Amino acid sequence: DPTGEPEGLLHRVDEGYGLGELGTARINATLLSLVRNEEVVGMVQAMRDLERTWNHKFNYPWTFFNDVPFSEEFKQKTQAETKAVCNYELIPAEHWDVPSWIDDDLFEESARILKENDIQYGAMKSYHQMCRWNSGLFYKHPALEHTQFYWRVEPKVHFFCDVDYDVFRYMADHNKTYGFTINLYDAPASIPTLWPETMKFLAQHPKHLHENNAMNWLKDSTRRPEHNIKANGYSTCHFWSNFEIANLDFWRSQPYEEYFNHLDRAGGFFYERWGDAPVHSIAVGLFEDASKVHWFRDIGYQHIPYFNCPNSPKCKGCVMGQFTDGEAWLRKEDCRPNWFKYVGMG
Ligand code: GDP
Ligand code: MN
Repeated sequence: DPTGEPEGLLHRVDEGYGLGELGTARINATLLSLVRNEEVVGMVQAMRDLERTWNHKFNYPWTFFNDVPFSEEFKQKTQAETKAVCNYELIPAEHWDVPSWIDDDLFEESARILKENDIQYGAMKSYHQMCRWNSGLFYKHPALEHTQFYWRVEPKVHFFCDVDYDVFRYMADHNKTYGFTINLYDAPASIPTLWPETMKFLAQHPKHLHENNAMNWLKDSTRRPEHNIKANGYSTCHFWSNFEIANLDFWRSQPYEEYFNHLDRAGGFFYERWGDAPVHSIAVGLFEDASKVHWFRDIGYQHIPYFNCPNSPKCKGCVMGQFTDGEAWLRKEDCRPNWFKYVGMG
């Protein structure tokens, strides 16, 4: 091992030398990206940021997923960005294909309506497949069978702040289920029946509702009443899931499995444009203890056009407190104050 200690020690742990003597060894977790071969440049850029600010200190493995095989170029260029192990995984067709009960003609008709409502990617079938996979399939991939925590990373995102502790260990030690940086309102026309379907599900499975749920956050109608009306009772405020640090046990739990199956059968991943962000957020908000959700205020992050930029000398390259570098109206899309109002700073 050319890198010396402590990486050398950690490396030996991977080879089965036993964890006993190493209290600070990595826990069972991976960085996770669904990505296309054509996005290799953006992926390398995102990796470079996260390796520089965090992962070079911990060397958590990367796991890349794709619906087609990864190219040699993609593998070489991404592996060159990290000392950590990189895994390249193909998504099984039965996890990616449009389910048999989805009607092609109805999908085409729905795509037309989504387009009329200016819903981005509404007519792009693969985008619907991606949202469905991120909602209810990714954690069923055999490559994650023995993994407990993941940090989702998209191509082209930025990380700005040095983070000196193991965030996965933080999640485990503090018994956290879900970590986020940004909360946003969604386009109501992408999810008109998501909340009604959720209420139907809840009526059939009242025991799944956690006693310390975040229902009040989900139902807020004070700041964006028109969103709540158009989304039929849901504020549309959600954790922006292109950043997501979470415990896979939650997605694998019976409440979530039953909820996803209900939504999947209802068809809204295709007949509407349900995103994995509102689906994950509603599930976490209803079925999990709200105190198990953590805001990573210290992780400087950008996915165009929004930032989470902390007030800290550890951050370089983003403007402290700035939420967007886009048009002024975008500032209204931030709904973190709602989370803090109903649930707290966590
Ligand atoms: P946006 O953030 O909502 O604009 O959507 P993106 O285009 O960023 O897609 C979300 C994530 O899914 C990104 O990591 C993409 O690389 C990935 N993704 C989207 N569609 C596909 C696809 O058809 N195949 C693969 N392999 N990845 C996809
Ligand atoms: Mn994206």
